[in-house]
Amino acid sequence: GMEKSVTVIGLGPMGQAMATAFLDQGYAVTLWNRTASRADALVARGAVLVPGVEEALAANELVILSLTDYRAMYEVLGPAAPALAGRVLVNLSSDTPEQARSAARWAAGHGATHLTGGITVPPSGIGQAESSTFYSGPREAFEKYRSALEVVTGRTDYRGEDPGLAALFYQLGMVMFWTSMMSYWQAIALAHANGLTAADILGHATDTANSLPGFFAFYAERIDAGRHTGDVDRLAMGMASVEHVLHTNADSGVDTALPAAVAELFRRGMDAGHAADSFSSLVELMKKGET
Ligand code: NDP
Repeated sequence: GMEKSVTVIGLGPMGQAMATAFLDQGYAVTLWNRTASRADALVARGAVLVPGVEEALAANELVILSLTDYRAMYEVLGPAAPALAGRVLVNLSSDTPEQARSAARWAAGHGATHLTGGITVPPSGIGQAESSTFYSGPREAFEKYRSALEVVTGRTDYRGEDPGLAALFYQLGMVMFWTSMMSYWQAIALAHANGLTAADILGHATDTANSLPGFFAFYAERIDAGRHTGDVDRLAMGMASVEHVLHTNADSGVDTALPAAVAELFRRGMDAGHAADSFSSLVELMKKGET
């Protein structure tokens, strides 16, 4: 029956983990992948590999997509577009909010429903009760297939009708993830240059990262209220501090691109007259973008 039946298109590490999770939960699973051999282990467990995208779409109303990006989706589904009518495409491929919005329009143009997913866990997190995925798009489609989506990750976080929202929440996490991890690499490079190992600084790095949520919460309310008073910290103090960071890295002979970019933002804030304001005033500068 429709309830325990799903099509999965795309069998990279993520799609394979998803198909496995559906099989574990007793779903009838239909598969398609450009490289057919990636389905071997799943077929051995009872999944059905079909030779064409049309057959994969015909097999189920619910179609999970796990492709590298949205461009891959157009390459895969484009030639089979007439078979899209009536399908609910749950796109768990990562891309930008704008890509998600235009994909929703494209799907609608072919009579299909597009639900955007923003998946933040690695393959090992798929099928786990505590994992969560962002969704956005038509609420009706989300509610209809909620139990199937809870097979992918035990928790679902529906953000609203705008198809871009799930991708936006994904990107909000990613901008923090990539820049934070780069800051960690920077600290390790600095440590190595000074005869310390990553293991030597792990505890200190962890304590530093763990201190951040307190700052997030403290500044969230002030920033939303547009309040950047320098009662707790002043940008001029921060400017001196980030220059110490920059010079420490330069003196140690390590790459300075990252600390220099941070110092540049502080410099622009100083130039804009925020010396006596909190460094949270940099948010206002960042909101303006570069034109
Ligand atoms: P992969 O890039 O390893 O696999 C993607 C799938 O896309 C494969 O099935 C591949 O087919 C297919 N594909 C790519 N390009 C094309 C194309 N032009 N035509 C047909 N098929 C194509 O990705 P993952 O499985 O690792 O991830 C899937 C999505 O999940 C990505 O958007 C990723 O950003 C996201 N994600 C991944 C995480 C991870 O830890 N891996 C974590 C969170 C999100 P083939 O097998 O033939 O190459």
